[in-house]
Amino acid sequence: MTKKSSSSTQITMRKPFRTTAPDACPNPLKSDSPSVFPTFAAGERGLKRLAVHTITTKPWDIHTAITRFSAVGIGGISIWRDTLSGKNLAGVRMELIDADLQPVAVVRGGFYTGIDRATRDLAVDDNLRAIDEAAGIGAPMVVLVCGATPGISICENIEQIRDGIERTLDHASAAGVRLAIEPLHPMYADCRSAVATMKSANDLCEAIDHSHVGVAVDVFHVWWDPDLEREISRCGAAGNILGFHVCDWKLDMADMLNDRGLMGEGIIDVKGIGALVDRAGFDGFYEVEVFSTKWWAMDQDAYLKKIVEAYREHC
Ligand code: ZN
Repeated sequence: MTKKSSSSTQITMRKPFRTTAPDACPNPLKSDSPSVFPTFAAGERGLKRLAVHTITTKPWDIHTAITRFSAVGIGGISIWRDTLSGKNLAGVRMELIDADLQPVAVVRGGFYTGIDRATRDLAVDDNLRAIDEAAGIGAPMVVLVCGATPGISICENIEQIRDGIERTLDHASAAGVRLAIEPLHPMYADCRSAVATMKSANDLCEAIDHSHVGVAVDVFHVWWDPDLEREISRCGAAGNILGFHVCDWKLDMADMLNDRGLMGEGIIDVKGIGALVDRAGFDGFYEVEVFSTKWWAMDQDAYLKKIVEAYREHC
C-alpha cells in the first residue's frame, strides 16, 4: 500500500473508508466501488451512529450482544477478541449482516513492547491474528492498546511500538484493515500504553505515515489534556481520526480500570469533545466503551436501555 503523501496539498484529505460488504472485494480499500461503510454528518446523533463495545455488556456472549444490540436499533458493534474465541468468524460475520449491525472495530491489538526480541515477535504474531479476525468478521479496524514495559524508557517503548506497528502494516493493508492507535490516560503508562496523549499518538501516526494507521480518540483517556482541541484538529486535518470512544470519568471512581461511568455520570464534556471530533472531520460511529463491575452486575437489557438514553442525552 502506498504511503500517504507528505505534500501539504493532500494532508487535509480524509482517508476513505471502504466497503465491508460480504460480497465485496476481499480488500475493500483497493476497491473502486462506492463505500457502504456508514458515515455520518457532523452533529448527527441518530441511533444508527451509536455503537457499543462488547466489553460494555461483558456478561453477554457475542451472539446475545448481536441480537440485543440489533433489537434496540443501534447501528454498530465493536467486538472484543475474547468474545470471538473459538467462534467461526464467517458465521459471526453472517450474524452481523443478518442483524444489520456494522462491525466497527476489533478490540484490541497492540502490546508491542517487551524486554527481548522474542516477546516482541510474539506480539507481532498476535497482531497479525487480530487483523485476520477483523477481516474475518468484516471489521475495518483494529484498535491498538500499544503497550509499555516497565524498566524501558518511554521513548524506547514508543520506538518498539512503532517497530511493531510497521511490521504488521503489509498484512493490514492486504486485509483492508486499519490500525487505530489509542492514546491511554497517563495513569496506564506503566504497563499498558507508552502513548499517553493525543500529541504522542499524532506524532507516532505522522512518523509512520501510512494510509492504514490512524488514531482512536477515547474521551476517558484524553479529556484532561489542555492541548486536546489543537491535537484533535491536527489529527482530523491529517485524516487520522479513525474511532471515537465515549464513557465518563466519575469523581468517586473506585477502581481505575473497572469503574468507568456511563456518559453523564461524571465530569467529561462528552458533547464538547464530540463536537471537536465532528468539526475535525470525523464521520464514524460513537462507540460506547465502559468497563464497570457495577454495570456488569445489573440486568444487561435494562443497562442497554440506559446506554441508549445516555447517548441521546449526553453525546
Ligand atoms: Zn477506548
